[in-house]
Amino acid sequence: MEFNQDTFENNYDVGDEIGSGHFAVVKRCTHSATGTQYAAKFIRKRRGGGRKGAKMEDIKKEIEILKYIKHPNVISLHDVYDTKNEVILVLELVSGGELFEYISEKDKLSEEEACRFLVQILEGVKHLHDKHIAHLDLKPENIMLLNHNSQNIKLIDFGLAQKIDPKSDIRAMMGTAEFVAPEVVSYEPLSLATDMWSIGVITYILLSGASPFLGDNKQETYHNITAIIYEFDDEYFSGTSELAKDFIQKLFVKDCRKRAKVDDCLNHPWIKPKEKQHEDVRKSAVINIDNLKTFMARKRWKQSLRVVCLCNRLSRSIQLRKSQDTLGSRNTLAEEAGCCSNVSEVPSSPSD
Ligand code: ATP
Repeated sequence: MEFNQDTFENNYDVGDEIGSGHFAVVKRCTHSATGTQYAAKFIRKRRGGGRKGAKMEDIKKEIEILKYIKHPNVISLHDVYDTKNEVILVLELVSGGELFEYISEKDKLSEEEACRFLVQILEGVKHLHDKHIAHLDLKPENIMLLNHNSQNIKLIDFGLAQKIDPKSDIRAMMGTAEFVAPEVVSYEPLSLATDMWSIGVITYILLSGASPFLGDNKQETYHNITAIIYEFDDEYFSGTSELAKDFIQKLFVKDCRKRAKVDDCLNHPWIKPKEKQHEDVRKSAVINIDNLKTFMARKRWKQSLRVVCLCNRLSRSIQLRKSQDTLGSRNTLAEEAGCCSNVSEVPSSPSD
């Protein structure tokens, strides 16, 4: 992988922060020569044996994969810079926000309209799978809209993506509990089918605003996933078509070889109607927007709570280390605290 030898600052003006993840901060930036806007993802490098920051081999893997893919429904990589503490990925800018946010602001959405988004998600995933790449972190946060005027979906975040070949034996406990497949939970080999399970979860939530396997704690969620305990509760699915439920059922299959593949999904009558009756069903069935709004509110609230907990932990360790009064440790902690220094109070729950 070739890194750009010039410095990032020589070529780009950095703007406001537009997102962040475990080891990355994403900022809007403008290419000085052309005026084109991009998203700069600053990935913090792991130092020595520490746990903060991403391993260089993982960053390189993300870059290799991004370089290898090119599709209208997948984010594209424009440039890469390597600095002492960070690797900077200059990515295509997506400014339309998360798909689920966009949909939850609507008053009504038919299954037919929802399918237009799903087709794009499936087309993006098909491109990856045709190249034997599994995304392995498909979830609502990683499905964005290009801008506010378009309904163009972009899949983002290739931090966990893997090249899958027939001989590869990739096992890993990773991803977000609610969205992971049984093989992730039971530490069995991951495959392209692992993404298809997540598409089932995303579709289920999109239609109902309910999360199919979510338990009261992680253990319960994992148990629900491995035992495939879920239902189409009428409380959430009264407006859902049987065709849509059939689509989801073909994805919630424990045996990876029997789980619907991306081409099967693209050819499913719910996605690609074969007769007028399928078309009519999709037009008249609606998604549960009210409950999707609640789902999004709860998600925002959980995110804020996580930030507050992190800040509390940091402030406690700052107090502790201050008492040890070593200059080096003070500097490192101040850096960490800067990411959330303006959060001062616990947010109220969405039901408040
Ligand atoms: P995680 O810890 O969740 O795996 P990450 O550290 O790998 O995340 P990303 O998910 O790639 O980082 O980016 C973090 C956030 O930044 C995203 O959720 C999104 O809001 C924003 N973001 C990422 N890429 C872009 C982009 N190309 N354009 C606009 N915003 C982006």
